[in-house]
Amino acid sequence: MPKNHTTPARLCIIGDGYSAAALLLHLATGNHGYGLKAGNIAIVGKGRLGAGQAFGCVSDHFRLNVRAGLMQLWPDQKSHFAEWAERNVFDPEASTDVGQFHRRRDFATYIESQLQEHGILASTTRHQHSACRLSQSEQGWQITLDDASQVLAKNVVVATGNPPPAWPFPMKGVTEGPELVQSPWRGDWVNDVETDSHVVIIGGGLTALDAVHSLSQQYHTGPITIVTPHGMLPPKQTGWKSTPAPKWPQTPTALSFLKCMRSAVGKGDWTLPGWQEQFEGLRVDISSAWMRMTPSNQNRLIRRLGWLWSLARFRAGPQAHSSASRLIETGQLTIVPDRVAGLSRQHGGRLRLQLNKTDNLACDVVVNCSGAGKDPLVSQMILDGVIARHQTAHSRPALTHDLAFLRPDGTAYDNLHALGPLTSHVTGDVLGAASISRQAKQLSQTLHKQMA
Ligand SMILES: Cc1cc2nc3c(=O)[nH]c(=O)nc-3n(C[C@H](O)[C@H](O)[C@H](O)COP(=O)(O)OP(=O)(O)OC[C@H]3O[C@@H](n4cnc5c(N)ncnc54)[C@H](O)[C@@H]3O)c2cc1C
Repeated sequence: MPKNHTTPARLCIIGDGYSAAALLLHLATGNHGYGLKAGNIAIVGKGRLGAGQAFGCVSDHFRLNVRAGLMQLWPDQKSHFAEWAERNVFDPEASTDVGQFHRRRDFATYIESQLQEHGILASTTRHQHSACRLSQSEQGWQITLDDASQVLAKNVVVATGNPPPAWPFPMKGVTEGPELVQSPWRGDWVNDVETDSHVVIIGGGLTALDAVHSLSQQYHTGPITIVTPHGMLPPKQTGWKSTPAPKWPQTPTALSFLKCMRSAVGKGDWTLPGWQEQFEGLRVDISSAWMRMTPSNQNRLIRRLGWLWSLARFRAGPQAHSSASRLIETGQLTIVPDRVAGLSRQHGGRLRLQLNKTDNLACDVVVNCSGAGKDPLVSQMILDGVIARHQTAHSRPALTHDLAFLRPDGTAYDNLHALGPLTSHVTGDVLGAASISRQAKQLSQTLHKQMA
């Protein structure tokens, strides 16, 4: 029987991943600790608070893709997680020549320990459901959950993170089974893969490398093929050190933005620490420079260079990178520079992938690491006319630089905000733990004023 909650929460956070947890922690500890203690905050989400799609994995082989010191929940205590892990995690395999690369699930445990240490859970009410719809009510917002119950709230923050992975082509007439891994992030699928089967991985980013690493750790003997449009895999993390941030143009265009990037990183070798140092320097102020660009210039850059930026930005942890390099060397892993256009079943049940430029590929297991996906709640809010769509990234919401959603008439809400990867098309590179945390801190200050 759906339950309706008639007293409005002061704040409802939709999403229960790292972004939601970081916001709660900054709400609790900012503003001299006032605000959250008075309680009445609702959290909507089905999972373990703080884990989300990123860190809620079960596989020990899925590791953080940056060294521990860069997983910064507390902007003022940068090595907090690294020190916590030293005291609390036993994991000899985390150690590499370029730093500690911990299991992703250990980071989720760390976040949980922070929520407990700051006594936040007592101030919150969990609704272990998905939010499907938002509508305005007299008291603020009415959130409809997937069991048809409703939650009322004066303020809402949408922190739904990384959309659930979808196949990057139509799946007409193919019955789903364990050999079709649509969502690989939890890592549980690896146990069901026959050791000698031919596995095809769609996409060539970090999730693809996680898949290769997990298969190699399971002593997989069958062939593995990665199909990725540019035929390239991400480079390995180096032991880079911080360098001064270069100056971005005051009012950048796509061209001046690109020039600034070129002059910072040059044409050097991107596998070397010096190159990564310059590149990481670029990232320091990239979000504010990105926000000073017009949407059409942003769009031009994403279309032309988005893939290359992602490849250089999301570097592989040493463990996953060395598994992939080893399997390439032995010939077990091959990379096909192409796109998958469709999938069918052959007589006898094997899978057949139709590629754009090259011959069809027959295989036993297909793992979707394409990164395709749309946020169903945001799509519904756009469809219902609650919020405006972004003018160039059409499946995404229009937002102000202060993270407020816009109404279809272009005016900003003062009680509906977004947080985390959902904002990256507007705010730039807000995708990793450290930048999300800085954004959560800034939003917590807005909300403190709002809820005072
Ligand atoms: C596989 C993967 C690995 C990553 N590894 C790293 C890393 O090593 N280091 C790093 O800094 N960053 C990493 N990231 C980047 C990551 O996006 C951020 O660090 C951060 O975890 C994002 O948190 P989030 O809460 O916004 O999103 P998510 O982790 O996606 O969590 C969002 C949560 O909200 C829930 N949700 C979604 N829609 C609804 C709804 N309508 N109603 C209720 N709940 C909903 C989801 O089920 C999910 O639990 C990784 C991302 C992914 C996808």
